[in-house]
Amino acid sequence: MRTVPLSAVRNLGILAHVDAGKTTLTERILYVTGTTYKRGEVHDGTTVTDFDSQERDRGITIFAAAVSCTWDGHLVNLIDTPGHVDFSDEVERSLRVLDGAIAVFDGVAGVEPQSESVWRQADRHGVPRIAFVNKLDRAGADLDAAVESIRERLHPRPLVVQLPIGVEDGFVGVVDLLRMRSLVWADGAGKAEDGPVPESLVDEANRRRRLLEETVAELHPAALEEFCESSAVSTDTLVSALRELTRTGDGVVVLCGSAYRNRGVEPLLEAVVAYLPSPSDVPPVRGEYEGTAQERPADPSAPFAALVFKVTSTATGRLTYLRVYSGTIRTSEAVMDVGAGRVERVGRILRVQADRHTRVDSAVAGDIVAVVGLKTARAGATLCTPSEPLLLEPPVVADPVVSVA
Ligand code: GDP
Repeated sequence: MRTVPLSAVRNLGILAHVDAGKTTLTERILYVTGTTYKRGEVHDGTTVTDFDSQERDRGITIFAAAVSCTWDGHLVNLIDTPGHVDFSDEVERSLRVLDGAIAVFDGVAGVEPQSESVWRQADRHGVPRIAFVNKLDRAGADLDAAVESIRERLHPRPLVVQLPIGVEDGFVGVVDLLRMRSLVWADGAGKAEDGPVPESLVDEANRRRRLLEETVAELHPAALEEFCESSAVSTDTLVSALRELTRTGDGVVVLCGSAYRNRGVEPLLEAVVAYLPSPSDVPPVRGEYEGTAQERPADPSAPFAALVFKVTSTATGRLTYLRVYSGTIRTSEAVMDVGAGRVERVGRILRVQADRHTRVDSAVAGDIVAVVGLKTARAGATLCTPSEPLLLEPPVVADPVVSVA
């Protein structure tokens, strides 16, 4: 059974143009959450070289369809979304099963063609997103220019919550504009040093905080009311307004960093937990059976319904990855593949971590797990309790595949 409440689950995808840093960011998230590399003595202050030596051991992480990690009492399921447009159908299926996403942008290139196409796909699935402008350590990186390209090409209002400290090779940290504190990462990453805003950045940080308050006030009634009364918006109000704006898609919270140097990853995870929804925050899943529309709540005691989003063949056997939307699935129970009209028996149920699969007896609404023993269910199939059949809404039809120069 899952040990955290449904409200502490985040089913998360990372969306990016090829090369923006999705793989590196995934690895750093698994590292920061302690999911990988428990061998030997790894202390805070681990060097970049340590990361490189792990790369070889990580094939399974990078190619797994989904991987679970825990962060600050939350269960984060990272669902792989292929970065290449040729895998558009797979992207659609992944988008269908996640509740929120991090859109990664290259800090030099800003919005690129694939970031745009995957953004539109996410729009159609109504997936709330936060943005991470990566590679701020690279020559030519420019957060403001990347933010401008998000505004111009993707159209949500960017809500920038950090100010970078240092540029290019000298990029060392960020000012958190919500807490008005600095976070600086010593060379070799590890935990950030938390301190006051550097003297030289106080004016700029105040200006940007003001801009954030004004933008949020324009978009959010409670923030506007506060702004009109006191010509400022409190941090608490900002945080709850940012959460709502993320969920409606009217604004996108923008953070920045360097995944490669492990700068900015922890604040990004904090933002995932703060702004992106849990399965209990999203509307009940819809489906139909023999012409009758149905809804299923994210409730472990409701009839079981799940969507298969990927099937892989591994040494462990045929792994069927599924997102449970309602009810509970248990080892050795019969489930119905509704589209195919077949009943199959569940073998083992696995929670997939970076380097191992943990066997669990059951999975409940909101979970992402892999099941061994299903012989025929294909990606896109609905599985449910045989006595309560339901066909979940199929993934939205993909845009035609576009070629990218
Ligand atoms: P993906 O295709 O989006 O999965 O991108 P990768 O994670 O494979 O990264 C593509 C290249 O960019 C690799 O050579 C990475 O080492 C590099 N890279 C990723 N993040 C950063 C970063 O923050 N700074 C710099 N300078 N390079 C990065």
